[in-house]
Amino acid sequence: MPIPGADLRAQHAALRAELDAAVGRVLASGSFVLGAEVEQFERAFASYCGVSHALGVANGTDALILALRALHVGADDYVALPAFTFAATAEAVVLAGAKPLFVDVDATTMNLDPTALRAAFAGTAKPIRAVIAVHLYGRLAPMTEILAIAGEHGAIVIEDAAQAHGAHNLQGRAGGLGRIGCFSFYPTKNLGAAGDAGAVTTNDAGLAARMTMLRDHGQREKYIHTVVGMNSRLDALQAAVLDVKLPHLDRWNARRRAIADLYRGELAALAALRLPAPAAGDHVYHLFVVRTPRRDELQRHLAACGIASAIHYPRTLPQQRAFAQSDSPGYPQAEAAAAEVLALPCYPELGDDAVLEVCAAIRQWDSRH
Ligand SMILES: *Cc1c(COP(=O)(O)O)cnc(C)c1O
Repeated sequence: MPIPGADLRAQHAALRAELDAAVGRVLASGSFVLGAEVEQFERAFASYCGVSHALGVANGTDALILALRALHVGADDYVALPAFTFAATAEAVVLAGAKPLFVDVDATTMNLDPTALRAAFAGTAKPIRAVIAVHLYGRLAPMTEILAIAGEHGAIVIEDAAQAHGAHNLQGRAGGLGRIGCFSFYPTKNLGAAGDAGAVTTNDAGLAARMTMLRDHGQREKYIHTVVGMNSRLDALQAAVLDVKLPHLDRWNARRRAIADLYRGELAALAALRLPAPAAGDHVYHLFVVRTPRRDELQRHLAACGIASAIHYPRTLPQQRAFAQSDSPGYPQAEAAAAEVLALPCYPELGDDAVLEVCAAIRQWDSRH
C-alpha cells in the first residue's frame, strides 16, 4: 500500500458527525464572515495558547503581515528572520514594507542560531526593529536567548508558529512566548482548517484592538475607516471546523511524537542518516525531518517503494530569486540544510506498521551502499 505524506480524509472521517453538524449549523445560520462562530473559536484558541487574545484571520501569511503592521514595523525597518524557513515568513516582511535581514540557523535544530542573531545585531548599522522566531518543523526556536538578545537591542519578537500549534516550554505555549504569535491553519498543519485560515495571538489588548481593525479594512465602526487595513477575516465555516478539531490537537501531537520516537528507535543505527535531535516535551513534529548528503537518492528510492517524502525546503530564502540580495554573506548552515533535509511521513493517522515499512525501505536503501 502506498504511504502518502498526509491523510486528511482519515482525520475527517473520524470526526465526520461533528464536522457535518458544525458545517450544517453555519449554513443554516446565514452568517459567514467573522461573527459568533469565529468568536467562539478565538476564545478557545486563546485559552489553548494561554494568551488573552486570539484573532482569526485569512491565513498564516496575513497573520505575519498584520503583526508587523500592528507593531508599526515598515519602511526602512529591518526584520531579522532565519535564512531557512517557508517563503511566507520573508514575504510578509516585504509586503509590510520592511526589509528582511536573514540570519543563519543552528546546524542541529535548523532554527534561528542565537550566536548568528547576536552577530546580526552587532554587525549592522541597520536598525533591526523586530525578530521573527520561526518554530521550524514544530520545534520551538530558542525563545529565551532570542528574547534576551532582542531585548538588549530594543527589538520586538514575533513568533511564526505556523508549524508549532501546541509546542511549549516552561514559559508557555507557542503563540504566547513573544509579543505576537502568528498561526496558519492550512489543512496539513498540526491544526488544519478545511481551506485557508490563520490566527494572531497576543497578551497586549492594544495590539489586539489594532489587529482587529487592520484585518477588517481598518474600520473600528462600520464604514468608519481609521487606517488603511486589509480584508483578512476568518470565515465562520473554517472557525466551526477548527473548533471541532482543537480538542483533539494534544492527542494528535502526542501521536506525532510517538511516531518520531518509533522512527528514532528504528533508524538510530544508520550512520548515513542524521535524525532530528531529541527535544523535551516541546516538539510537536509538524514534520519529521532526516538529513543525508544522498537526500535525492533516498527520496527516489522511497518513491519507488510508494512512500511519499518531501523537501522543506530545497533552497534557503537568500537563494530564492524573490529574496536575493546582492550583498548576501552566505548562510552555510542554512545551505547545508537545504541540500540534505527530507521529511518522512509523520501525521497522526499514520499507523506503526506504516512507519515500520518506511524504516524497512530506508534500511534497504542504506544496505546498498
Ligand atoms: C504555512 C506557513 C506559513 C504561511 O501560512 P499560510 O496559511 O499558508 O499563509 C508561514 N510560515 C511558516 C513557517 C509556515 O509553515
